[in-house]
Amino acid sequence: MTTHAPHAPHATHATHATHEHRLAAILSIGDELTLGQKLDTNSRWLSQQLVDLGISIVEHVTVPDDLEAHVAVLARLAARCDLIVSSGGLGPTADDLTRRALAVASHDSLVHDAAGEAQVRAWFAARGRSPASINMVQAQRPSRGLLLENRHGTAPGLFASIDSSARQCDVYCLPGPPREMMPMFDASVRPSLRPPAGKVIETRVLHSVGIGESDLAQRLGSLMDRECVPLVGTTASGGVVSIRIRYEGEAPRVQAKAAVNDAADKALSLVGEFVFGEGGESLASVVLNMLKQTGQTIAVVESCTGGMLGEELTAIPGSSACVLGGWITYSNEMKQALVGVPSELFASGGPGAVSCEVALAMARGGRERSGASIAIAITGVAGPDGGTPAKPVGTVWVSLAHARGSDTRRFSMGGDRASVRSWSCTAALAMAWQHLSGRSHALLRQVEAYVE
Ligand code: ATP
Ligand code: MG
Repeated sequence: MTTHAPHAPHATHATHATHEHRLAAILSIGDELTLGQKLDTNSRWLSQQLVDLGISIVEHVTVPDDLEAHVAVLARLAARCDLIVSSGGLGPTADDLTRRALAVASHDSLVHDAAGEAQVRAWFAARGRSPASINMVQAQRPSRGLLLENRHGTAPGLFASIDSSARQCDVYCLPGPPREMMPMFDASVRPSLRPPAGKVIETRVLHSVGIGESDLAQRLGSLMDRECVPLVGTTASGGVVSIRIRYEGEAPRVQAKAAVNDAADKALSLVGEFVFGEGGESLASVVLNMLKQTGQTIAVVESCTGGMLGEELTAIPGSSACVLGGWITYSNEMKQALVGVPSELFASGGPGAVSCEVALAMARGGRERSGASIAIAITGVAGPDGGTPAKPVGTVWVSLAHARGSDTRRFSMGGDRASVRSWSCTAALAMAWQHLSGRSHALLRQVEAYVE
């Protein structure tokens, strides 16, 4: 391996690796993870980054703050992988054992790094504070290792190689907090990685709504055969089914791209009517874009979703260009007072709060009172209580009012309260997308529709 003198924390990381990083493992460290108090999101993010670079992940491992377990797992993984990326355990306290574990596993000792100390001191000085003496532990590194600069916290990262009889394995140790870990990966790890030469990965992901995963798979037919290149697969999440197209191989980049585009075109010719977007797009972002492009605006009137639809729309940057606002009309009184739903709809013998009539009145009232181009209303029984034989839990009416009329549909949503509520938002956004794109096919879990 290369020598890392003079161990400046700002060293050019292009010099770290001397071998290809074909096989990698992700290691997460911390009692809070193994005790189930904190969800390990770092592994997911790190995996995505490495896989995108063409590096294969052989394992995800999580260990508690325990030196012996940490060292053992480093040794085991180092014999199997070219690369380990770990997160956590770099803090200054007694339970932060990553430095020691790395030193032991790489048969090295810890030394004090003067430049590292300067970095820790500068971090505190910039905030008008001085470091506690325990913080100086963070300037330690294995003698043959390197510190990695942390621009977002006190704990520098670490780099060292573990040589086993089987292979040399490069180990990068990053801090646990995601907002420190991610920028450190981008600045100090990504540039020095050596993905396998010649390996090309090209992907496209198309998002569809209104069709179940198995129906979609059936329509895609032989395109989804496991021996097809590129590989086509589907994943379903909350009413949206995504078609993942992935080429992984040695073909020239242009050829790989063309093969992926060709498979995407084939998929679109088979199921294009259900496809609303691609890549990082969501139903909400697609709806907002279409509204923007056509100079239209939207308002929402929500009962059982209690503002979730408004939240989904306004979570997207730039939504103020077309989201006017909305109402959370949870009680019958508020439905009447805020958007003018006629009181007789709630009278005994009337259709009641969860009905086509009320959903439509909410949408129309919301549209009139906001002046929006389209208004969407949601009213339903989210459960677990409140269901009746005629309107069981999961009965949801969604209505969309626009300049030329309205579209009101009943859905029978499965699952618990949380899923009924989130499926309702997806159905509402899907109806808006259909309206804006001139489509009208039945959506998943739709059982009735009235269009005028
Ligand atoms: P610090 O200097 O903040 O102590 P550290 O490197 O010692 O950093 P940990 O103490 O292990 O990191 O974790 C600090 C916090 O970072 C945790 O409480 C948790 O909120 C978050 N964190 C740690 N590991 C993960 C992970 N794998 N996924 C998501 N968050 C994590
Ligand atoms: Mg810590």
